[in-house]
Amino acid sequence: MYSEPSFKETLITWFDQHQRQMPWRETTNPYYIWISEVMLQQTQVNTVRSYYERFISDFPTIESLARADEDDVLKRWEGLGYYSRARNFHTAVKEVVEKHNGVVPDDPEAFLALKGVGPYTQAAVMSIAFDLPLATVDGNVFRVWSRLNDDTQDTALQKTRKSYEQDLLPYVQSQSGTFNQAMMELGALICTPTSPLCMFCPVQEHCEAFEKGTVLERPIKTKKQKKTLHRLQVLYVEDEAGNMLLEQRDQSLLRGMWQFPMYPVETSHADIEQEFDHHILIDEEPSFHLKHQFTHRTWDIAVYRAKVTDHHIGGNPFRHWIPCSDKKQYTFPVPMTKIFKAMQQAD
Ligand code: SF4
Repeated sequence: MYSEPSFKETLITWFDQHQRQMPWRETTNPYYIWISEVMLQQTQVNTVRSYYERFISDFPTIESLARADEDDVLKRWEGLGYYSRARNFHTAVKEVVEKHNGVVPDDPEAFLALKGVGPYTQAAVMSIAFDLPLATVDGNVFRVWSRLNDDTQDTALQKTRKSYEQDLLPYVQSQSGTFNQAMMELGALICTPTSPLCMFCPVQEHCEAFEKGTVLERPIKTKKQKKTLHRLQVLYVEDEAGNMLLEQRDQSLLRGMWQFPMYPVETSHADIEQEFDHHILIDEEPSFHLKHQFTHRTWDIAVYRAKVTDHHIGGNPFRHWIPCSDKKQYTFPVPMTKIFKAMQQAD
């Protein structure tokens, strides 16, 4: 481990001079910092900026978000993906109102107990908002720290995260938020996955992997879970008055969002038409195919147009006829928005 203060001071000096400007770095409001950390999980900084600005403008206080309908919250999240983050955050904010008088707790254990808060979010919000001594370990920090130490532990394992959190504790006894952000910024700007800029790295003299020539072999990470392929068919059903048939998802993935009626590809059209008491007629050939990648699954969707003779909703109680012109009021997952646009253009 490096002698404090030189490593830490060097890193923080670099951060002070080179950090990117971000709106959430200009606030000390724990609620705003928390929003940014939730949005930044799995999402690029540049994508998050506009969502963050709009979110804090529409829900400027914890109370305003706690009072909001889940549909309104998901609508503000539309396009950011990983919607369970938004639902969990909404639930957690309600817990803050109910259990903590609307004030984000500055007790790490109380904060960790809130819905959807894991060790990373706990450390990030507690250190940045309250300067508490917790180390953030995200993908950037895994990479930077494993290279600095030429560490060969498998960073896919929980015990490696715990070990890194312990290693970093001495560095977060003061200025914890700044140190954590500096480590992550170094990983984002200099110590990047495939083309690290070691020649411009402020802490190069502390880096064991650089010295040994093993930079691109670190971090060690075992292979990710394989993606599963889901072969599906979607019905685009629109009546003559410009209403489309939608259903609200009840499954854990994308729960609460809206989609066109969807079935496994094996379901026969005869069975589907039977479900609608033969009030729809499905085209024999799909209008087009679409593939969409989620974290652990791929949807391969055949999109069929169906003609309708009656406003029957089939067997799904979550289905509704909705005017196409009202589409903006409903939260669609990305593949459904693509289907909507393609079918509207084809008309
Ligand atoms: Fe990363 Fe290279 Fe800096 Fe080491 S010297 S921390 S590998 S950028």
